[in-house]
Amino acid sequence: MIEVRGTYFDGISSEAHEATLHCVGELLTIRGAFGPLIHAVPLSRCDLDPPVGKTSRSIRFPGGAVFETADCDSLILIERSAGKNRMMRIVHSLELRWKTVAVSLAGIVLFVWLFHTYAIPILAKKIAFALPPQVTEEVSSQTMRALDYHLLKPSELTAEKTAGIRKDFSALLDDVDRAHFIYRLEFRRSPVMGPNAFALPSGTVVMTDELVNLSENEAEIRGILLHEIAHVKERHALRSVVQNAGIFLVIAALAGDLSGISSAAASLPTIVAHAGYSRTFEREADRFAALYFIRRGWSVKPMQDILGRMAKNVPRIPGEAVLSTHLATEERIRELGALAETNR
Ligand SMILES: [Zn+2]
Repeated sequence: MIEVRGTYFDGISSEAHEATLHCVGELLTIRGAFGPLIHAVPLSRCDLDPPVGKTSRSIRFPGGAVFETADCDSLILIERSAGKNRMMRIVHSLELRWKTVAVSLAGIVLFVWLFHTYAIPILAKKIAFALPPQVTEEVSSQTMRALDYHLLKPSELTAEKTAGIRKDFSALLDDVDRAHFIYRLEFRRSPVMGPNAFALPSGTVVMTDELVNLSENEAEIRGILLHEIAHVKERHALRSVVQNAGIFLVIAALAGDLSGISSAAASLPTIVAHAGYSRTFEREADRFAALYFIRRGWSVKPMQDILGRMAKNVPRIPGEAVLSTHLATEERIRELGALAETNR
């Protein structure tokens, strides 16, 4: 038996009577101070107000009588025994536990954000470094073919000019990395890209005629070459592909299925040729090049100069955010200066 104390209204006068409700099985009885007020009415013929917050609740009897109580817990027991208002009870308990619900939701959002921000880049790095050379070669040659077809034309630089740059490139590689990639330097003309350089995951670095013509000394070109070598060494292009493709590709790759990587690599031409790297990767490549300069006692000014000139000479593509390119360049120039300052 469930016993509930409350107030009884007979539905005729507005007078309130202190009363006790008893629930035995499916039957409700209400007793006042001088005896029974309502005899054994089946619960199925009564209406229970749905719970709203922590206010008192009512049971309405046939004929208009009402029993009100603040003892919501006991009413829940009665409902439970009768299976009434189940949905509303769930809503009610959620209302009472809204803080728990809010905290759980915030926890889920935080977890997804942390996973995306920290775990995916770490896993993407592992995958990019574990890829077999055949995959790297394959996606790189596909990318080069696509760029040659869409954006690049044969170089018109003199052999003398390119020979000097190739010699510098080779000397830099002797210092920083020979062992892990088959590095190659290619020259192309590209009115669409303008002054630019990019690197393919296999180790091929491409420099446009426009960039060579824009440079004013060898140090500027060396800074660019070191920056691109860093992108290769750190596998920034493949890491970007995997990171951008997201969680499902990461899980598949970790399980040994590399087919997703090959199809996701369709985004490689856009990433390498349109500066699609994250700020973190650009900063890492700048830092690598700047530290090489600083260790040799060279000024980083040529690196800053060529960056500034490149940003001014970006071909205007309708709809492209030129302003954001400029802001990013200003930030990179500032960071190069700060690096030189702290490593003096
Ligand atoms: Zn870069």
